[in-house]
Order: sequence, then structure tokens, then C-alpha cells
Amino acid sequence: MHLQNPALLQTRCYINGGWHETPQQFPVNNPADNTLLADVSDGGANETRRAIAAAKQALTGWKALTVNQRSAVLMRWYQLMMENQDDLATILSSEQGKPLVEAKGEIAYGASYVQWFAEEARRIEGDIIAPPSNDKRLMVIKQPVGVVASITPWNFPNAMLARKAAPALAAGCTFVAKPAAETPLSALALAVLAEQAGIPAGVFNVVCGSDAAAIGGAMTTSKDVAKLSFTGSTKVGKLLLSQCADTVKRTSMELGGNAPFIVFADADLDSAVAGLMASKFRNAGQTCVCTNRVLVEHTVLEPFTQKLIAAMQKLKVGSAFEEGVTIGPLIHASAKEKVARLVDQAVDAGASLLYQAKLDGSIGDNFFPPTLLTKAQPDMAICREEIFGPVIALQSFNEEAEAIAQANNTDAGLAAYFYSQSISRCWRVGETLDYGIVGINEGLISNAMAPFGGVKQSGFGREGSRYGLDDYLEIKYLCLGGLG
Ligand code: NAP
Repeated sequence: MHLQNPALLQTRCYINGGWHETPQQFPVNNPADNTLLADVSDGGANETRRAIAAAKQALTGWKALTVNQRSAVLMRWYQLMMENQDDLATILSSEQGKPLVEAKGEIAYGASYVQWFAEEARRIEGDIIAPPSNDKRLMVIKQPVGVVASITPWNFPNAMLARKAAPALAAGCTFVAKPAAETPLSALALAVLAEQAGIPAGVFNVVCGSDAAAIGGAMTTSKDVAKLSFTGSTKVGKLLLSQCADTVKRTSMELGGNAPFIVFADADLDSAVAGLMASKFRNAGQTCVCTNRVLVEHTVLEPFTQKLIAAMQKLKVGSAFEEGVTIGPLIHASAKEKVARLVDQAVDAGASLLYQAKLDGSIGDNFFPPTLLTKAQPDMAICREEIFGPVIALQSFNEEAEAIAQANNTDAGLAAYFYSQSISRCWRVGETLDYGIVGINEGLISNAMAPFGGVKQSGFGREGSRYGLDDYLEIKYLCLGGLG
């Protein structure tokens, strides 16, 4: 891996401002060709406990800083991320596989949360409440929750972490991060820049390791951890929630989705195709807000399908660093097997394979070709499970109520999309979909200014926006009496 600043490539846990070797290492591979990128320190429960102790010790000093001081440090962290955007993107693409241009976008996106919360830190405000009697004054102040532990997935190894660390640090909390074992290098690179930005020792820690249960166990059982912020699968989220019950921890849960994408007959079909391409194929279909089910009104199914095939034919599959590549590999072999199984099951159950790209024979094992199925049915696994691959399965519907009922017929509630030119339908459908985020005539919905999060079993809590700080702040009520 060629970096302008090789110091960004770290392989040891970052605890209390130092780099910690462990007796064991675990391998981190490039998913494009399965070559070894680095052997990384295999931290476990001990390293996690050490990081929590450091975060606890650093809390007093960090929360005592003025908001201006914390804001300045975060702004410097943001600037360093942008100055090192190319190197951070190279590290990210190498361990995660997404095209370099997308990785650069992720670095800018992750950094934008740091910038946003550096600014929002100045707007932590309380309240003065009218008292029930004249001898009292009632005030509300907001204070940092304390030590925050975070667990993040491999699909956005920079942004998912930045999106949690930035509001936590802005609020005055200290932080212990556990990145996914597939992609620890991006998190460690952020730690290098945190140190350079002047984030004090113990305020931001990264524990890498292959035993997620051991690290998660140490986080969830610790009384010193006030809050757990998790992004990942609904299955692991439920497990962590149950583990957090014993110490009654605050939690934020950003879990899996099953996003519907509805195309009404009154939609602008070209922009619907463009929106679908953006929401489906980013990161080879491996995002929590990726379109998972496409519902097309039957009267426009044929023209929409033809336009979609033409757009899919322009996708270029290859490794992250090849010019013009738009689809990288899936994260590992079992991810590819899962996508292949969903396609096979759908075809066996009556779906038709309309289009599948031909892959170069010399391409690595983890690539899956962009694929289009039609005649999908709501009860097929491909419509009920997260596909997490570059596959579209089209369903058709006859009327609006049917489309909405189908769209809402899932336990997930993260993102939904629909296309229509009717302003009244836009309001009606936007308000009726049971999702935390709705893209209306838009396939790219996420940015630092907007609240990101789900309802139902996609979790709770919001990241980004002015609401994003609330997850890291306690409300305290002060009652001043005896004012006679
Ligand atoms: P995952 O298996 O739940 O893993 C996510 C994180 O949890 C990883 O760091 C993983 O560590 C860790 N983990 C796994 N088992 C654990 C345990 N027993 N205790 C503590 N930590 C544990 O999810 P994934 O399949 O890798 O990631 C994709 C999922 O994330 C999808 O469902 C996607 O929709 C969701 N996601 C949601 C959002 C959102 O904002 N809502 C954003 C992105 C992704 P290891 O990697 O080391 O096993």
C-alpha cells in the first residue's frame, strides 16, 4: 500500500495515548484478492478494560474544557482528516474494497460529522422553567453522559466511527472504539490524527481484536461505561442490548434495514433509475440504507426495466484502484455465498434472471456480478433479508395502498425511497412509510446536517444533525429553593 504519510498505517491498539502491542495478532486482508495487508494486535477483554480505565481517568479533564476548546480540537481533527483524505481513502479501499473514489467520499463524509459537531458543541443549551412557587427557580442543564463505548461495522469503517466519536467528544464524553475485525486500519489511522489534533491521552481509544464477544462483553459489563453506541446487524444489536440491561446503560442502536424503493407511474423514470443506481450500488450494495426491494407500478414496469438494464450495463466491476471501477468486491467469501444463495432461491421460487454482468475470468473470488431479477414476491428471502450485494429484485404493484402495505411489511424501519411527481402523493406517502428516513425523488439521503436513524427493529437514536448531540448528553434538573 503506497501512502504519502506511512505513519497513518498503524497495527497496534491505541490506548491512553499510546500504541499497544498484544501477544497475538490477527490478519487483515484485501477483499479484492485476499492478500495480507497487515497483522494487527489482537486486543481482548484486558485491553478493553485498560482503555475504559483510561477513558474514565481522562473524562474529568476533557469535560472541564470550555466548548470553545473542545470545538477547536475537533476542528483540527477534521482538517487533518481532509488533509490526509487520499491516504485515508487508500487505507479504506485496501481493507474494505470499495472503489477509491467512493472511499474518498466516505472520508469527506466522515470528516463532515467531525466538522458539524465541532460547531454544534457551542450550542449545548439548557432551560429555565417557570416554577410552581416564587421561592424556587427550576433550571435544566445538559452534561456529558460519561465514558462511551462504540462498536462499528466494516462497511463504512471511517464514517460509522466518526459519526459516533464526533458528537461524543463534542458533548464532553470520552470514547473507546471497537472497529470491525475486517477493517481496523481506518480506525487506527483516525487515532493517529486524533493524537496530532491534540485530543488528550485517554479521550479517544481504539481496541482492535478478533474476539468481538470478549471486547463487547468487557464494554457492556463495565459500570464505568455509561453508554454503548452500536452500528451493525439487528441480531448483534439485540444481544448487546440484553448485555447492557444489567448495568442499565444508555444505548444507541443503528441496526439493519430492508429499504423499499417505490416507483409510481407518475414518476420521472430517468431520475428514478438514477436514484436507484445510487441507492443500490454504492459500496457494491453493502450499506444499511441500500435499496433492498424495488416496487414498480405495473404500468411502467417495462420502460423502467429497460432503462435500468441500460444503466446497469455501465457499471464496471473491479478492484478499488482500477480506473473507472464502480463496483468492488464483497467483504468476504461468506458474504458472496449469501448473495448467491438469495439469488438462487429467488430463481428457484419463480423469479426471472433478466440481466447479469459477465465478470473477467481473472477477477478475485469475492466479486459478485451486478444482477437484475424480476417477478420477485414479497415472501422470498431476497425481499425479507438484507441482500448486501449488487442485486436488484423487481416486484410490481397495482395501486398506492398495496405498495405502502408491502413497503411497511417488515420488522425493519431504517430508510425508504419513492419517486412520484405528485406533490400530494409525496406528502401522503412520505408520512405513511414507517421508516426513520425517507428519500422522496432522491436516492442519496445521508449528510451531517440530517438526523440518521431507524424505527422498529432498525434501532433508535439519531446520528448527525442538531439532534445527534442528545444521544451523548444527560438532562439534569437543578431546583434552587429558599428564595423567599
Ligand atoms: P455485525 O456482525 O453486527 O458486526 C458489527 C460489529 O459488531 C462489528 O464490529 C463486529 O465485530 C461486532 N460484533 C459482532 N458480534 C459481536 C458480539 N457478540 N459482541 C460485540 N460485538 C460484536 O454486522 P455486519 O454484518 O458486520 O455489518 C453489517 C450490518 O450493519 C448490516 O445489518 C447493516 O445494515 C448494519 N449497518 C447499519 C447501519 C445503520 O446506521 N443503521 C450502518 C451500517 C451498517 P467483528 O467484525 O470483529 O466480528
